[in-house]
This record gives sequence, structure tokens and C-alpha cells, in this order.
Amino acid sequence: MPHSINSDVCEGIALCVEACPVDCINIGRGLNKKGTKYFYINFSTCIDCGVCFAVCPVKGAVIDEERPELQKN
Ligand code: SF4
Ligand code: SF4
Repeated sequence: MPHSINSDVCEGIALCVEACPVDCINIGRGLNKKGTKYFYINFSTCIDCGVCFAVCPVKGAVIDEERPELQKN
């Protein structure tokens, strides 16, 4: 099951983007509820390696399951 990014928890720091081995994390449009940039994971190309979850410094921003309702793009 792919990982997800909770759009309104993400702070747009992008450590996950650099760390993802398959380049499946993209920047979202506009700003989230915190007023920061945010990223989203492409569910169809995510290989579920968990690297994004490990490197993200923001608690709750990366979720280790597919949660389309929390992830905007
Ligand atoms: S998910 Fe975490 S590491 Fe990735 S952009 Fe958001 S805050 Fe940064
Ligand atoms: S689980 Fe792995 S492949 Fe999927 S978005 Fe995170 S770093 Fe990329």
C-alpha cells in the first residue's frame, strides 16, 4: 500500500522529495491550511519503501498507508 502525505500537516520542507528513490513526490498547488507549501505522493508509482516516513521531521505529515482523503494535490 502506498504512503500518503497529510497536506495540512506537511510543512513543505521537502526532505522526502530528495530522499524518495523513485521520484514520486510532487509539490502541491498553492498553500495548505498552515500557509506553507506541501507535497503529495503519486500512489501509482510509490513503491512503499518508507524512506519518506523515516526522513520527515514533521510528526504526522507522512502516513504509512493510502489516505487519499487527507492528501491534496
Ligand atoms: S512530508 Fe515531511 S519531509 Fe516531505 S515535504 Fe512534507 S514536511 Fe517535508
Ligand atoms: S514510500 Fe518510498 S517510494 Fe513511496 S513516496 Fe515514500 S519514499 Fe517515495
